Amino acid sequence: MNKVILVYSDNFKRLDFGFGHPMRGDRYARALEEFEKINLLNDITIINPEIISDNIINLFHTSDYIVKVQEVSKTGQGSFGQEVPSNKGIYDIVLLSVSASVTAADYLLKNNSLYDVAINICGGWHHAFENTGRGFCIFNDIAVVVNYLLKKKNIKKVMVIDYDAHHGDGTQRAFYSNSEVYTISFHQDPLTFYPFKSGHEEEIGTGAGEGFNKNFPLSSMCNDNEFISKINQIPKLIDNFTPEVLVLQMGVDGSKQCTISNMQLTKDAYDYASKLLMDLQKEYNFKVLALGGGGFVHPMLGQNWGVQIKNFIRK
Ligand SMILES: [Zn+2]
Repeated sequence: MNKVILVYSDNFKRLDFGFGHPMRGDRYARALEEFEKINLLNDITIINPEIISDNIINLFHTSDYIVKVQEVSKTGQGSFGQEVPSNKGIYDIVLLSVSASVTAADYLLKNNSLYDVAINICGGWHHAFENTGRGFCIFNDIAVVVNYLLKKKNIKKVMVIDYDAHHGDGTQRAFYSNSEVYTISFHQDPLTFYPFKSGHEEEIGTGAGEGFNKNFPLSSMCNDNEFISKINQIPKLIDNFTPEVLVLQMGVDGSKQCTISNMQLTKDAYDYASKLLMDLQKEYNFKVLALGGGGFVHPMLGQNWGVQIKNFIRK
């Protein structure tokens, strides 16, 4: 049985973009209710995030942008990006969310860490760029935590696998010329879906990072068979790169129940992908940092995250 830790705060509910917006604050607590129904919580350690300083956010985001988020947060007036509502107090909430991802990384990599997998369901904000928020994402916790691993934890090879329905464009951009970070994204074809401008197969990285970025655009009505046929390419990528840490963006908005995308996945697709990753974890002995990502209807969200977490524990 793997040792799994979940970083969680009741204050995640404050990440709420308001009535009519898909991003509602109850998604985390409702997911936890689903985890409880399948007795997941008995086998997981749950801890609170430890709040990080701006210096850690600054490992990816520019100082100017951090100040801008803080300023907008004071009044709720102004904007810090496309498709990102500006709420009063939002800075503390997104700081909490990134802190949870960094706390999860810390627990994974402590000396003699007991944990094989650490989870932050309020993470995976893959659209934010270094200097702007985008697509519901204000701080890109994936880019922050990967830089934290490289610069503060002496990790040399990180693989990011993202199977959220949307292309992980902010993460791709953050590490596009970096050979220490292999970014891989499975997503609905950007010709038909946000973020529209990136996520194509020919984007393979540049300079030293050439060959360390891979996109798998999926057809707009992608079913489990198509998804699984692409996911089956992961073992050879892991075998070639041999990551020390795998950061997984485990978004489930490709579910057919989540109409934000056109994709038609069932729980079986997420079950298959997470099982495959954990088989590889056992074989190659890397740590897994799992971050929530998209999924906006209930109880689908908790059920589809839950099936993955069940595989992370694997009795
Ligand atoms: Zn998404």
